[in-house]
Amino acid sequence: MDLWPTRPVRPGDRARPTVRSSGSLLVDNIGELITNAFDEGEGGPLGIHRDAALLVEDGLVAWVGPARGAPAADRRIDAGGAAVLPGFVDSHAHLVFAGDRAAEFAARMAGEPYTGGGIRTTVGATRAAPDSDLRDNVRRLRDEALRQGTTTIEIKSGYGLTVADEARSLRIAAEFSEDTTFLGAHVVPAEYADRPDDYVGMVCGPMLAAAAPYARWIDVFCERGAFDVDHARAILACGQAAGLGVRVHANQLGPGPGVQLGVELGAASVDHCTHLSDADIDALASHPSTVATLLPGAEFSTRSPYPHARRLVDAGVTVALATDCNPGSSYTSSMPFCIALAVREMRMTPAEAVWSATAGGALALRRDDVGVLRPGARADLIVLDAPTHLHLAYRPGVPLIRQVLHNGVPR
Ligand SMILES: [Zn+2]
Repeated sequence: MDLWPTRPVRPGDRARPTVRSSGSLLVDNIGELITNAFDEGEGGPLGIHRDAALLVEDGLVAWVGPARGAPAADRRIDAGGAAVLPGFVDSHAHLVFAGDRAAEFAARMAGEPYTGGGIRTTVGATRAAPDSDLRDNVRRLRDEALRQGTTTIEIKSGYGLTVADEARSLRIAAEFSEDTTFLGAHVVPAEYADRPDDYVGMVCGPMLAAAAPYARWIDVFCERGAFDVDHARAILACGQAAGLGVRVHANQLGPGPGVQLGVELGAASVDHCTHLSDADIDALASHPSTVATLLPGAEFSTRSPYPHARRLVDAGVTVALATDCNPGSSYTSSMPFCIALAVREMRMTPAEAVWSATAGGALALRRDDVGVLRPGARADLIVLDAPTHLHLAYRPGVPLIRQVLHNGVPR
């Protein structure tokens, strides 16, 4: 039985999970319940309730309130005074690939710079792999993420880069996530190195046509050495015309036009945002529907300077945190690790980092059914082995995820 939904959906089309819990379940004796319901509880955006309980019915949150007034239920989980929060929403992950690049990581730690060129190594391994290997790898990483509290994960293609390999990457991704992203414009593959215009034409033509039935989003790596702004704009516009929502890999390796392009096209999210100008931050602050998704695992794993999260938050930009899980530049599936990095290295407060890893990720995916624990939302939640969310940053590297409920089902 697979608890993750299988039907890809388009922006605005909110599918219900295919498998949910039945009957009622009370999560009781919660010391600190983070709801992310801004208008409730304390702690500002975290909407914290103390000494609380939460009722699950049919896979959804049915009631939230004080433990003393909790309704009866068929079953009960005693949180033992621990903290409970929404499951993490990892809005940026590249899980469909074969092989790994541990040797490249070792070389980088010995002093070689990261250029993104290693993507082509994974493209070769992915093209050569049978479907079963790709599917097993996605399942392994999805399960790894779930054990660490991630109950929603976006999955990108981008290591196939042929019509057939991009379509099968997305077909497999759609078996595991509603939020699948067509990233045929990850890099220009070697066989098109001297004719990138032809490659862009293929991405916008037959590749998009083959990929779109399995995708909710389109994404482009808009960066020197990958796709320039004209190519990126053309590809994203084709995706929009095909009904896909827009996301952009922007301003990772240096300053560039990616963030402004994302804002111009109404992207749900611009991702990385490592090198931002004042104008980039102003553009994001004045377009709140475009989220800045920060991926500190990439800076950690490429030994690069971190994004200026503090400047973004202080400017009023909506910030999400995600893993960028991929075999080259950020081979972690751990949202708690990203929270710890965001707090220690990017000067976010623990509350801001937890919000960005849950509600922020949901906004980056334009979802209102996850990243929040209010009646009607999915019963995706984490019971921590800690009395407060502060421990996620305060105790880095410690497995603090005691229990995960996904669609109300204990995992
Ligand atoms: Zn990425």
